[in-house]
Amino acid sequence: MRLAPSDVLAARHRRLHDLMAPDALHALVVTNPTNIRYLTNHDGTAGIVVITRDAVQLLIDFRYEAAVASLQTSAAACPTLQMRSVPASYDEALADVLTGLGVASVGIEAGHLTVARHEWLTNALASRAPSTSLRSTQRLIERLRVIKDSFELERLRDAAARLETVVDQSFPALRPGTRERDVAGAIESALRKAGYERPAFDTIVASGPNAALPHHRAASRKLKPGDLVVLDFGGVLDGYCCDLTRMASVGTPSQAARRLFDAVREAHSAAIDAVKPGRPASTVDAAARDVLTAHGLGDAFGHGTGHGLGLDVHEEPRVGRRRADAPDPILEPGMVFTIEPGAYLAGFGGVRIEDDVLVTETGCEVLTSVPRDLRICG
Ligand code: ZN
Ligand code: ZN
Repeated sequence: MRLAPSDVLAARHRRLHDLMAPDALHALVVTNPTNIRYLTNHDGTAGIVVITRDAVQLLIDFRYEAAVASLQTSAAACPTLQMRSVPASYDEALADVLTGLGVASVGIEAGHLTVARHEWLTNALASRAPSTSLRSTQRLIERLRVIKDSFELERLRDAAARLETVVDQSFPALRPGTRERDVAGAIESALRKAGYERPAFDTIVASGPNAALPHHRAASRKLKPGDLVVLDFGGVLDGYCCDLTRMASVGTPSQAARRLFDAVREAHSAAIDAVKPGRPASTVDAAARDVLTAHGLGDAFGHGTGHGLGLDVHEEPRVGRRRADAPDPILEPGMVFTIEPGAYLAGFGGVRIEDDVLVTETGCEVLTSVPRDLRICG
């Protein structure tokens, strides 16, 4: 597995310090595992990072100590890392580290620290380090992660490019009589052969009426002539996710199926054309939605147009309708997200087409190269 080299991690730390400075935060407690990986390359299921200007303290238990020690002798070593062994309780160890720092203002990730843990820590510090106060932060590291660095772009490009061989190897399994879950099995086995560490999420194979259910996974239904099939899958390569949806028809598609496919494809192209730096993400969603509405399918498109991709398969930016309760991010070069409009008609079926794009200085680069046409099979 390729890991971010030390100089890339150091640049991430510098950008984080720049974000912490205006809030006068002396330290940040990082409890989101993806953010810990982004800052340190440590990808265990447990661990806490406390980052200050001088050091990155990584609290881990014995299960991970050997792996981190070996990482620290490699080209992917985390600069200024200090490993802190956690003998028993992570909360106790964190309180000890914060007490030792003795700084005034410590940020916590409000979205990733439970209320119970926050209360415990507040009480522990009140007696051990009364001059230290905890401050809620939102999306500090997420704001960095939304703009991919050059190491990440290489990984994301490679992850997306390998999907072509996955399609070539697994789509021949699409034949009348094959069960959805056997097609999903063929896709997941092709993902592993193509070098991905694991599927990015449970593969979706939704055929016939099941295609009208956007979150159907893959079940025992057998493919039948005339079915539209939604195939939605992705892999994780070097920690980075790709996400693709392609459509197949078992035998010749009906006119209604062809019309539905053509409308979604037109919406997908309009959304890709709308990707430009400086625009709100909602304009990309509106471009797709306007096309579907013009085809009388506005109500059939019940989800947003896309989501960010990176170390997580769903991350910022959200590409959807403008909403009062959520930010409408302005597109910037270096953002990577999916474009995946769909239309779903209960009892009939559905169509979704999904690609991964990178915002460039002038528009976008489509990272996924699999042909977008309706694949006739069987
Ligand atoms: Zn998908
Ligand atoms: Zn997606």
